[in-house]
Amino acid sequence: MAIKNKLENRFHSYNSGKLPKGCVYCVKGEKLVLFVTGVCPRKCYFCPVSDEKYQKDVVFANELKARNFKDIFAEAKAMNAKGSGITGGDPLVKLNRTTDYIKKSKKYFGKKFHIHIYTSLNLVSEKTLKKLYLAGLDEIRFHLDLDSKKLWKKLELAKKFNWDVGVELPLLPNKEKEIMEIIDYIHDKVDFLNLNELEVADNNHSNLKQFGFHVKNKTSYAIKGSLELGLKLINYSKSKKYKIPIHLCTAKLKDAVQLSNRIKREAKIIKHDFDIMDKEGLLIRGALYLPEFKPGFSYRKKLKNANKEKYIKKLNRLIIKIKNKLKFNNNDFVIDKNKLRILLSKKNIIKNKELFLKMNLVLAIVTEYPTADQFEVELEFLN
Ligand code: SF4
Repeated sequence: MAIKNKLENRFHSYNSGKLPKGCVYCVKGEKLVLFVTGVCPRKCYFCPVSDEKYQKDVVFANELKARNFKDIFAEAKAMNAKGSGITGGDPLVKLNRTTDYIKKSKKYFGKKFHIHIYTSLNLVSEKTLKKLYLAGLDEIRFHLDLDSKKLWKKLELAKKFNWDVGVELPLLPNKEKEIMEIIDYIHDKVDFLNLNELEVADNNHSNLKQFGFHVKNKTSYAIKGSLELGLKLINYSKSKKYKIPIHLCTAKLKDAVQLSNRIKREAKIIKHDFDIMDKEGLLIRGALYLPEFKPGFSYRKKLKNANKEKYIKKLNRLIIKIKNKLKFNNNDFVIDKNKLRILLSKKNIIKNKELFLKMNLVLAIVTEYPTADQFEVELEFLN
């Protein structure tokens, strides 16, 4: 059941005081999520990082596995990003990579490109903070250890620099006392507190059930009691007359607002003229697959291991063949180099079905995300 509360905002989250600047961009889907490394000195049992990334030194720009800065910037441009949120793992494990990215982003997209970062306190020192600050970082968010106060004091180092400083915590329903203690400690030391409704993660290393946490209902990833704790903590802070702005970021905000806004931004920019964009930003299009790359079992693995150049040449030859049989404009058929297929309109694939079947192709109408992984939501084969 939805919780009605006067602190609820139009983004389906709750805030007392103003939203942190990084969140203002994020809720509108204007932030690129830059995952700089999966390596982290901590091993939290609730860690939401996926198995593909956890404790691995990999870089992702949104869903795109990035090989270099060129990939990162291409993804930022593809969504017309107004800033980025740097996350991990712990970005401070790869400090040079992180500062390099900040500097290059500011140079490329301009000073107003807003960059915030999430980090634990483990690797924080005045020297590391200074490097981040001089690189141009706008906002820093610390994930404090709920079970140990040992490093909390390091937080104060961040106030030596002219940027926004916040604390960001997962709302573990059994940690009410500990989070209250953190609020008591930080309320006059940082600019904001961000509380995240806890969600079950689709990975092998986190185990929330073992700690007695369960999802709200069958259709939700959100953990029962987490949102309620967040609201209680906002009231706690108010009862103590603390001035610190608090934002309770809900699972609903992440899915229904932030992600959906980003998807729509990406769709508008990357869609081909022949694509149909639905109201959620998903793209509906026709696709001609080579039989060896028909979506199904091990599809992604086959694509990963394929000799792309060889198959792109093959697809080019097919387009020439189609051109000899049909009248069409150059933009009506596009080779998708990632998925090694030909894209065209839904109307076109239906109209010329017989011809494409004779060419021994696999025909489908797909509904997919406009993101780098082009995740298919629906596939309707026409063969
Ligand atoms: S600090 Fe963050 S990234 Fe590191 S293990 Fe904990 S939850 Fe995962």
